[in-house]
Amino acid sequence: MTETNGNSDILAQIAATLNDLKQQQAALAAKIDALAASKTTASLSDSSAPTLPAPIVKAPDSPPHKNAKPITASSATTSQKWGPRVVLTTYPHQSGVKPIPLHWGNSDPMARGPLVASRAPEAVKYRNCIGAHGGSYSIYHALAVAIDDLPVDHIPNYENAQPPVVFGPFPQWGDSKKIVSLDPFGHVAPWIFSKWTAPDGTPVQVRPTMAITKAHMSLVEMERAVATGRIKVDGKIVINDRGDLAVTKVAAEPVWYLPGVAERFNISETALRRALFEDTGGSYPELITRPDIKVFLPPIGGLTVYIFGDVSKIADTNYKLALRVHDECNGSDVFGSDICTCRPYLLFGIEEAVKEAQNGGSGVVIYFRKEGRALGEVTKYLVYNARKRYGDSAAEYFTRTENIAGVKDMRFQALMPDILHWLGITKIDRMLSMSNMKHDAIVSQGISIIERVPIPEDMIPEDSRVEIDAKISAGYFTDGRVLTESELAEVHGRPWEDVDH
Ligand SMILES: [Zn+2]
Repeated sequence: MTETNGNSDILAQIAATLNDLKQQQAALAAKIDALAASKTTASLSDSSAPTLPAPIVKAPDSPPHKNAKPITASSATTSQKWGPRVVLTTYPHQSGVKPIPLHWGNSDPMARGPLVASRAPEAVKYRNCIGAHGGSYSIYHALAVAIDDLPVDHIPNYENAQPPVVFGPFPQWGDSKKIVSLDPFGHVAPWIFSKWTAPDGTPVQVRPTMAITKAHMSLVEMERAVATGRIKVDGKIVINDRGDLAVTKVAAEPVWYLPGVAERFNISETALRRALFEDTGGSYPELITRPDIKVFLPPIGGLTVYIFGDVSKIADTNYKLALRVHDECNGSDVFGSDICTCRPYLLFGIEEAVKEAQNGGSGVVIYFRKEGRALGEVTKYLVYNARKRYGDSAAEYFTRTENIAGVKDMRFQALMPDILHWLGITKIDRMLSMSNMKHDAIVSQGISIIERVPIPEDMIPEDSRVEIDAKISAGYFTDGRVLTESELAEVHGRPWEDVDH
């Protein structure tokens, strides 16, 4: 039996179980409805709309926690916010349920259709995304609604929030194989879909998943680069002798087209849906019950693109492009930890990107929120302790992570090239990264890399030799020599005793 067939059987069993539950709950729903109607003077549910005979339960209206905001006249109960019933999930072909058609990969956004994730009473019927907007911040949004800081029916006002520069469209935006983890129209969605209505004629609120802005950035390393003459003040990209930089920034939240994501990882869509459902504690039942909804908004961090120079040159192969893809390392990037090469390499990437832009090309740094190899800081610090207690050695570097996390890396670069496709990039002249995983992911997506640029030796902090030598030994690009196994065993970091514990 193939894995796909096995998963289909499991799905069929789950669907059958849920169907039984649905029928049992339908009877219960009628009783609850009657009860709610007798207790609620003004029901917020739309009585003219088709009913949703889904698994439903009575919404608990528990008393507020003693530390919660005091109830005021304007505070809404959970029933008033969402209605007296909780719709746990909907089903394909359920009465009244008709998601807005979404043709992922269509280059015409109007033919592609908008992304709608709202669970407002009317939108539950036509939403075509699983999950919620905002990535990991969707939980803070929920908290704001819970404590009545944010009305549940708040409609964002996007007046004057549109991008200050025009990007694309590029042919890649209409290729369902090239972009599977972000919405290529996410930066213009509220404006292009402003007149969109649901099948029943109600206006649809479409939220952006990307945003573009312009800013200045001030980094002490750039001030030093100007002072030592490594970069010149041009008044446009390097604005002044403090090394302040002019930058165009693009923020993107993840939007997963599940069939495309599954294909990138060479697994079935069923296997992906089941893992996402089970491994998030069953948080997204529609991953199982709504195979007809293909888009998932995962509760994870997104990315930011920092662009130096003329944005129109990025996709133009007549101009040189220097690019760094950087994965978040808060301890080093922001707080200067010297155990790894993250901040030095990030700053080297920015400096080289700036130089390329000043030379008439363009420079791009992409920052992914994948803290600690997407394992998070808690795991990272546990690994640090285990490394240092055992006598930090390059030969044992990955073993310490694997002992705790079970894997040495969860960044899985397979989805990373999507943002390069969104930027219209087809070749990278100078890739400011040594990672073989990033290199291979980019090249496998048909984007050529002409030159790979390692971090200069003099920028590597002493305590991070363990990290960089272990990575080079594991396949990271270097233009220097790869250490032998016995040499690797001799590379040690700062010992446990050297840090005041
Ligand atoms: Zn780091």
